[in-house]
Amino acid sequence: MAQEWQAGRLDSDLDGVGFDTLAVRAGQHRSPEGEHGEGLFLTSSYVFRSAADAAARFAGEVPGNVYSRYTNPTVRTFEERIAALEGAEQAVATASGMAAIMAAVMSLCGAGDHVLVSRSVFGATVTLFEKYFKRFGVEVDYVPLADPAGWQAACKPNTKLFFIESPSNPLAELVDIAELAAVAHANGALLAVDNCFCTPALQQPLALGADIVIHSATKYIDGQGRCLGGVVAGRSAQMSEVVGFLRTAGPTLSPFNAWVFLKGLETLRLRMRAHCANAQGLAEWLEQQPGVERVYYAGLPSHPQHALAKRQQKGFGAVLGFEVKGGKEAAWRVIDATRMISITANLGDTKTTITHPATTTHGRLSPEARAQAGISDSLIRLAVGLEEFDDLKTDLALGLAAL
Ligand SMILES: *Cc1c(COP(=O)(O)O)cnc(C)c1O
Repeated sequence: MAQEWQAGRLDSDLDGVGFDTLAVRAGQHRSPEGEHGEGLFLTSSYVFRSAADAAARFAGEVPGNVYSRYTNPTVRTFEERIAALEGAEQAVATASGMAAIMAAVMSLCGAGDHVLVSRSVFGATVTLFEKYFKRFGVEVDYVPLADPAGWQAACKPNTKLFFIESPSNPLAELVDIAELAAVAHANGALLAVDNCFCTPALQQPLALGADIVIHSATKYIDGQGRCLGGVVAGRSAQMSEVVGFLRTAGPTLSPFNAWVFLKGLETLRLRMRAHCANAQGLAEWLEQQPGVERVYYAGLPSHPQHALAKRQQKGFGAVLGFEVKGGKEAAWRVIDATRMISITANLGDTKTTITHPATTTHGRLSPEARAQAGISDSLIRLAVGLEEFDDLKTDLALGLAAL
């Protein structure tokens, strides 16, 4: 079986293995060099054995690489690994999280279709729907995330897609994904879930009934703040449309970034467990602090959807919000008085970040829209990283002492 050793083990050898094993091994197809680590194929194009071979590959009659906008071995390994982790028939990688959202909507919706979007989604996602998809004749309405009855009421005969993030950013609101999927399907629509905050280590939306999973791999999948990338995953019927769009339109993932993300996936569950533990500890501690009015974190028994979060997720994530007494001035004072935590709007990094949503991530919304989204001037968002818990607590205590 020397040939088989050279080619690497077959994917079927991984049937029935657990999540952590898939995260380390799925999707690797070794080259004749027998490399142990995943190969990084920095190549834009591929050579053919003959003119006839070239013709057959271009015609799709024989499998094989043609050009890296279509396929690349490193990117394919990443796609197969993510598909395995999300329980998807197929996944395709994109140049960023926003490219993933664009590709999903552009390939599955057209002029005259109606899309329902959760009010609590990433800011650029709203801009993409509001400013661009509407320009191409897609109808868009926004619905509060948590109440499936509200989604049912907002459906129209041409509703094609529901788009959500659960848990939401930064207030950690959830929706029952299985229940919402049933509402979408009863109305002939698909449910797309941006699973960026949980990653498949904490939540597998497809298993709950969702049709499409989207990721900004820039966040926890990389996990160390290095590369931009994204993923769309789902059933082959929908994915073939998404793949076709991406190959033509071009926002595909760089093989270098795919290689970095493969390294990220190998430690995904370990990291998510550590992120969640730090976040849980800080949420509990913040809830005890006199200057803090309210903490938004689904891991707290005080969170109204704590029971749903426990049932639906394997962990509560690492993004939390808290309100301090005294409005914007006070929130800014707390942020500025921390010394170590990075003042930046990014998340999913080993480095803990702190931000004031009302004047940054949600700053472009009108005051009314901000109020509707529950983003008050006294709200601070923490994306908890992997530093020592006691050091994070000490730094936040410095911040709160400025109140
Ligand atoms: C960051 C983010 C995106 C966009 O991803 P990019 O990789 O920055 O394009 C989309 N959705 C969520 C929830 C995000 O946090």
